Amino acid sequence: MPGAVDLHSHTTASDGALAPRELLRLAARQRVGVLAVTDHDSTDGLAEAMEEAGRLGIELVPGLEINCDVPGSEIHVLGYWVPVRGETAPTAEPSRQSESWRAEWFQEFLREQRAERAARVHRIVERLTELGMPLTAEEVFAICKEGSPGRPHVAQAMVNRGYVKSVREAFDRWLHAGGPANVPRRRLTPVEAVQVIRRAGGVPVLAHPGLAQRDEMIPELVAAGLAGIETYYPEHSAKQIETYRATCRRLGLVPTGGSDYHGAHTGRATTLGSAGVPPEAWDELKQKARELTRERHGD
Ligand code: AMP
Ligand code: ZN
Ligand code: FE
Ligand code: FE
Repeated sequence: MPGAVDLHSHTTASDGALAPRELLRLAARQRVGVLAVTDHDSTDGLAEAMEEAGRLGIELVPGLEINCDVPGSEIHVLGYWVPVRGETAPTAEPSRQSESWRAEWFQEFLREQRAERAARVHRIVERLTELGMPLTAEEVFAICKEGSPGRPHVAQAMVNRGYVKSVREAFDRWLHAGGPANVPRRRLTPVEAVQVIRRAGGVPVLAHPGLAQRDEMIPELVAAGLAGIETYYPEHSAKQIETYRATCRRLGLVPTGGSDYHGAHTGRATTLGSAGVPPEAWDELKQKARELTRERHGD
């Protein structure tokens, strides 16, 4: 289908401004033909997104994004074609039965991820309070609503209290990796994130490596089953795009890309569908997904 390819976006199921249905409508207006919805640690927006995508004739890739902390930085891993729901009704067909089991443990894993996010919000507001910016976790959760609680919601609460003028300023001064009010997550290494996505039958891709500046970790991620690198990304320079294309060619990975659209309020405003992902990248990703599925089923 013609139209732009955008393999990275967020909704109100994590820290995006738009509900899944609204995001899909925006995608249609922006002439996006292929869209991946990749909420942090959640697949809760995907059912609604898929329904609206079907109505609008947009190809929707069910995905997610798992953020991992490493000393001094953070590594984000995208997963495509992950199981969407745990509620699949058990059936008599053995292959189907194992699919529903698979989705069940994966949803449990995501619930634990979000519980750790909530615990981390408590730790961050304690830290901010110590730093002279009293804040409660309840204020943060009221902003987050049904999303995946994280620093963007903390940042918005800081804006509401008048501690900073913008979400951007909250990150730049306090919440960035290694920042005075950031508290690292305790759960998962990037290698484990790649492994868990593979175990769930998904296709793991390293998100925006230009932001993490930890390219030395790429080989161990590849050994764990990494399938691609998010190469076309609004904050990557032309030189970085060329470097990651070359890395992908060398290691047999797919150079993917996306806008990481979160909506206008987020201090990291990008335009949906704007990442400049070439159509071949999308073809290669589908090809890679088919290969992994064949490997998985041992044929
Ligand atoms: P967390 O989920 O707590 O790891 O927060 C990560 C999210 O914070 C990212 O997905 C972005 O939405 C947002 N973010 C990270 N860095 C910045 C920044 N410098 N300015 C605005 N938002 C940011
Ligand atoms: Zn985000
Ligand atoms: Fe990210
Ligand atoms: Fe993202």
